[in-house]
Amino acid sequence: MSYKSLPKVELHLHLEGGAPPAFIRGLAAEKHIDISGIFDERGGYAYRDFDHFLKVYEAACTTLTGPEEFRRLTLAVLEQSAENGVVYSETFLSPDFCGGGDVAAWRDYLAAIEDAAAEAERTMGITLRGIITCIRHFGPEQAKTAALCAAETKGDFIVGFGMAGAELMGRPGDFRYSFDMAREAGLRITCHAGEWGGPDMVADTIRDLNPERIGHGINAAKDLALVDLIAEREIVLEVCPGSNVFLNAVPSWKAHPIKLLRDRGVKVTVSTDDPPFFNTTMTAEYDMLSRTFGWEEEELGMLTQTALDAAFCDAETKARIAKLLEPAP
Ligand SMILES: [Zn+2]
Repeated sequence: MSYKSLPKVELHLHLEGGAPPAFIRGLAAEKHIDISGIFDERGGYAYRDFDHFLKVYEAACTTLTGPEEFRRLTLAVLEQSAENGVVYSETFLSPDFCGGGDVAAWRDYLAAIEDAAAEAERTMGITLRGIITCIRHFGPEQAKTAALCAAETKGDFIVGFGMAGAELMGRPGDFRYSFDMAREAGLRITCHAGEWGGPDMVADTIRDLNPERIGHGINAAKDLALVDLIAEREIVLEVCPGSNVFLNAVPSWKAHPIKLLRDRGVKVTVSTDDPPFFNTTMTAEYDMLSRTFGWEEEELGMLTQTALDAAFCDAETKARIAKLLEPAP
């Protein structure tokens, strides 16, 4: 049984990380960039471990040289999502990789991405919104430029602010200024924590950055008092099980804490993170949850509903998407 056609909502997807390998190969050929070493013989991305994954990811991103490449990338990513039943998606966007953090340059990239999102909505029936992320390992000063780009372009499309990058660099409190700036501009807040960091990293993120959602958050499961706090505060976790298993953040699907978190009352959702890099899709995530934990249409539908409730888009958009989730009469 496959849940491919079940309508889905995805909250945690890095735009560059969604780039299909064939799309990147095509761009590299057009631009005469030799990155043949990052592909395996079957045409997928090839790497040994997490550090090597980051290198392959960076090499793939060298083909994304301007707004037009990001317009095409957005369409290629949304095509994959729509094929897997996704009707609403939020994607992380990094001004650091789109014009180096300069607000004027960022606006050009954003216009191209929004243009592609509008086309995808017309032709594929998928709605996209953007969350601007600062990159943790670039440090707190650089994060302020991402926050400024976010504050300056907040609108119907840019709805949130967050932080990605190497989780073990620095502490959440170092980035408080940027998160406060984004919050004051009216952006909703999410932050990666507890993928590689322990429960203390999740607790500090909650205390210092006060996010509504946490990216991953799975290591909170090692501290049940913290799990209860997350449940009580109704902080939503953007869980990416396929990514966690692929990168060995957890040893197996069976050992994944998503069930424990859910059983203890935490609002969990499911996303793919960087799907072609982790050999996954939203369909594969739903199918594996079903196979591993016996979750069926009812439980999977609840995950989707939780994700829509936690989406950062406006109420009108939510109401429109909610109609798409209703079972066909
Ligand atoms: Zn992520």
